[in-house]
Amino acid sequence: MRFASLASIDIKNKADWQDRFYLTFDVDWASDEVLAYAIDMVEQSGVAATWFITHETHMLSRLRANPLFELGIHPNFNALLIGQAEKGEDHCSIIKRLLDIVPEAKTVRSHSLTQSTHLLNMFVELGLTHDSNVFIPWHAGGELYPWQNWNGLTRIPYCWEDHVAIITNRFDLDGVCAAKGIRVLDFHPIHLALNTDSIERYEKAKPFQRDWKILCNMANKGDGVRTSLEILLSKGAED
Ligand SMILES: [Zn+2]
Repeated sequence: MRFASLASIDIKNKADWQDRFYLTFDVDWASDEVLAYAIDMVEQSGVAATWFITHETHMLSRLRANPLFELGIHPNFNALLIGQAEKGEDHCSIIKRLLDIVPEAKTVRSHSLTQSTHLLNMFVELGLTHDSNVFIPWHAGGELYPWQNWNGLTRIPYCWEDHVAIITNRFDLDGVCAAKGIRVLDFHPIHLALNTDSIERYEKAKPFQRDWKILCNMANKGDGVRTSLEILLSKGAED
């Protein structure tokens, strides 16, 4: 099982990305303890990963120290959509603020997967080369592959997301592992820390997201998001 980071994808080089696994993490303002927990898991397995960053934290230097890790950005446009943006804020300023924190970013996934023609063009204008804003579940059938957008952006679909596994209560990755083509998975550090198995557990824990001890006590001990990743990483280690 081979892992790589998203920005390494060259659509012309199918042999390189075909049948590879791509771990991605939407950081979603996780506390440093929660983020460290996720980083520990991936580093212990020595595999590549892409981290979509939401905020400044000293954990960025730890991520940058690992040559297998790539840092992308995870802009949140929701305040614009619901009319609660700060005065003068627009999509461009939201992306630029994140690029100030992660100037090396080449990849982007929007929080809530917000996208539009205008946003896709803005990504390119601001130097981003790859996006992963399209979710096509592995069970939709067919072979997934990245493609080049009309403006040159490399678009990379992803086929598994922890939040969807929680909603559907399906944590095995057998279907994903058996799927053909490119396989991009999306995890959130908070769901690793909680080993989330239900939306109820997540909602109950939400007020304590920044209290590591309470979170640990609220973590699920059965099958959940963390056990899914553990199984995948153990398969990666077999190679
Ligand atoms: Zn998000």
